[in-house]
Amino acid sequence: MALLETDLKKDNAYFGLSKHEVKKRLDKYGYNEITKKKRKSPILIFLSQFNDFIVWVLIAATIVSAFLGEIADAITILIIILMDGILGFIQEYRTECALEALKELASPTAKVIREGKKMVIKAREIVIGDIVELESGDRVPADIVILKTDFIQTDESLLSGESLPVEKREYDGKSIKPENMLYMGCLITKGKCIGKVIATGMNTEMGKIADMLDSIEDSKTPLQEKLNKLGEYLVYLILIICALVTATGIIRGENIYKMFLVGVSLAVAAIPEGLPAIVTVSLALGVQRMMKKNAVVRRLPAVETLGCTQVICSDKTGTLTQNKMTVRKIYLDKLYSITGEGYNTKGEIQYNGLTVNLERNEAFKKLMECSVLCNNAVLEKNNISGDPTEIALLVMAAKCGYTKEKLKNFMLIKENPFDSDRKMMSVLVQKDGKRYLFVKGAAEKILQRCKYKISDDDIVEFTEKDKKFLLNINDEMAKEALRVLALAYKQVDRDDTENDLIFIGLLGMIDPPRREVYNAVLECKMAGITPVMITGDHKLTAAAIAKEIGILGNNDKVLTGDELNKLSDKELEKIISDVKVFARVTPAHKYRIVKAFKRKGLVVAMTGDGVNDAPAVKEADIGIAMGQAGTDVTKEAASLILLDDNFATIVAAVKEGRIIYENIRKFIRYLLSCNIGEVLTMFLSSLLNLPLPLLPIQILFVNLATDGLPAMALSMEKGEKDIMQRGPRRKDESIFSDGLVHKIILRGILIGVCTVTAYAISLNYFGDIIVSRTIALGTLIMSQLFHVFECRSERQSIFKLGVFSNKYLICAVLSSLFMLIFIFYNPFMQRIFYTHPLNIVQWFIVLLFSGTISLISNLYWYKK
Ligand code: ATP
Repeated sequence: MALLETDLKKDNAYFGLSKHEVKKRLDKYGYNEITKKKRKSPILIFLSQFNDFIVWVLIAATIVSAFLGEIADAITILIIILMDGILGFIQEYRTECALEALKELASPTAKVIREGKKMVIKAREIVIGDIVELESGDRVPADIVILKTDFIQTDESLLSGESLPVEKREYDGKSIKPENMLYMGCLITKGKCIGKVIATGMNTEMGKIADMLDSIEDSKTPLQEKLNKLGEYLVYLILIICALVTATGIIRGENIYKMFLVGVSLAVAAIPEGLPAIVTVSLALGVQRMMKKNAVVRRLPAVETLGCTQVICSDKTGTLTQNKMTVRKIYLDKLYSITGEGYNTKGEIQYNGLTVNLERNEAFKKLMECSVLCNNAVLEKNNISGDPTEIALLVMAAKCGYTKEKLKNFMLIKENPFDSDRKMMSVLVQKDGKRYLFVKGAAEKILQRCKYKISDDDIVEFTEKDKKFLLNINDEMAKEALRVLALAYKQVDRDDTENDLIFIGLLGMIDPPRREVYNAVLECKMAGITPVMITGDHKLTAAAIAKEIGILGNNDKVLTGDELNKLSDKELEKIISDVKVFARVTPAHKYRIVKAFKRKGLVVAMTGDGVNDAPAVKEADIGIAMGQAGTDVTKEAASLILLDDNFATIVAAVKEGRIIYENIRKFIRYLLSCNIGEVLTMFLSSLLNLPLPLLPIQILFVNLATDGLPAMALSMEKGEKDIMQRGPRRKDESIFSDGLVHKIILRGILIGVCTVTAYAISLNYFGDIIVSRTIALGTLIMSQLFHVFECRSERQSIFKLGVFSNKYLICAVLSSLFMLIFIFYNPFMQRIFYTHPLNIVQWFIVLLFSGTISLISNLYWYKK
């Protein structure tokens, strides 16, 4: 500790560590992690594939059959079980990897200064000695001693159980006391600071006492839970049918042991044990696709809810707009305009199209000073960072020759940071022994605190008339979609509060909508989703932008925070469906808005960035945090994080959510109808007193060839074209809604009946049990391979979708087909699987009974 204390006093404390030093310390102390949750080892995942009672029964039965002399049979069965296990392993391993990658992405970050530069790094890469910047909403990434702060408060409840926020102080250079420390995992509730890391990972206080919460919850989604339940029922049902098949066989005089093996094999084949795994895989794969589109899912259940979204409440600045502000208008004694684009510092002030020089105007000078000093952004050649509103002010000032460098003889004494409740900020600065307070913020907030104004270089009284007049100017600018800031100052003697200010001027800045937002809003509307704008900005600014991007229609309402305050919850609920823009709201309003939508029974997504947004984000069905502008708390409360803070990404995620859900329906349909077909084939044959249509080995082969790959390929469907032209599905809607159960049962029955018919005809016609069984096997497998194409859509024919548009499915079907041909025509395989090489007539029977129904149903849908 002694070494660290001298280290803390070094002059270059804010310069931070060098890359080389960071690497050295990382090697020495390791990553800044509490405990790395052990990944499930691949071997364990593989072994868990066989951890199933029915599979154990089958293995036991197989071993018995080996002793009874059926060695080839036994080996084949074991190989098939092994291959099934490998398929299951691939599915589960991919899921594990996808979830792991997800955790990595959602992992917390921290702002550090290294080699004199501010940068955002993964919190786990922090080392002892790093200089860290923290502000309200941040989670403390390591144990940190405070080097500089005006005011900072933390919530240490995680560590001490104390629920009240604790105020902390700057380190005085002597000995480090707890009041100078910020501890890992605690939350900054107010203020900001610069600090130095003195302990990381397991050496932190948190590391000593507890395991941190995992950033991602591995919770099961409601659908997964429901499917698990369904799976349990199906197991019982299938076991009963298998027992019946076994019993009828034995009554008919078949070998008891053989019938037992038939029953167990049928149970293994027909129990959709792969279902939960494929559901997880398709959720995880969907999550990966979303990640590629910049949406990080923090909770798997959110994927399901996304598809049901009915209302998307979105922040304006930065989400619907580009957050690239440019000052366009300046009001001093009259309204000037300022030229120039983006962050380019070339531009000039004009009045009526003519360039003017305001150098001698006192208000102009103060406007520039306030813009530069009451500002935390950085505008340097290679480093532009900070709040875009403030960057815009620096760019404007630079156009007029005012920079931080030029005003460096103003010394910062204290800052009252901006927050979206106050909608203003101020700084106390000192120059030549005199102190000044510079204030900027929303016009109506600043104007009501003004007592004087600058007029012809004089300070005169600021009247009610002035205020009214300026509010009108404010409205005029706002109607042009400009964000307006008012600037004021005062010389401070004793009272440094933000009152009795001298009004300086107004600034109007443009923040153009993101280009992709127009389409995204349109897409939302077509998909039956209502986009709603929620902003701290002025009513008229918000309305102008909302109109431009299509959120606000002619008959829609705009509601301000003040108006909202006057409404009771009931009244709000009544009108909320008509309101498309909420302006001048605070985070507390957001919470009320979410609640009101939810009470109306709507599924609502809500974005947030600031620390105060967290409750609303948590309350929403889909809480969305901004990846760039968002604070740690909001991210932790959210189920979705937007890496690019873009509204269009929310819409893309909703679309992906719908696709994933549809895909799950697709393979459930496929797997269940196929399993019904398999069970019925055996059951009907025994009812009809026919000899066994399939031997145990053949049943297991059907399972191997049709269950795994084709079902997995269905989960890779890209989504039908009209997926965003349908309304959202109800949240409580069953996965089997829209007649899916009927489709599954009917198709299952048809597969079974067709297979048994083909088998019975073959028995009659060819009189050879091996040929007939081969035909039954071919018919059953081919029916399923045809059926998988039907499952690609519930609304369209495969011909409209494009037969080859899912490449994975084509590969899966071809590989199953190849396996089938292989066991039919390879002499060695024929002996193992008791098959016969089919001739053209026999293939005709197979294709007739397996393909006709698929063809008819596809033609039916094609015509529709
Ligand atoms: P949203 O992101 O929710 O769409 P917003 O970013 O426009 O809203 P806030 O950041 O809460 O909303 O800003 C509200 C108002 O506060 C703005 O209209 C502006 O007048 C004022 N304001 C914004 N940023 C600053 C700042 N850095 N300093 C002073 N005032 C500001």
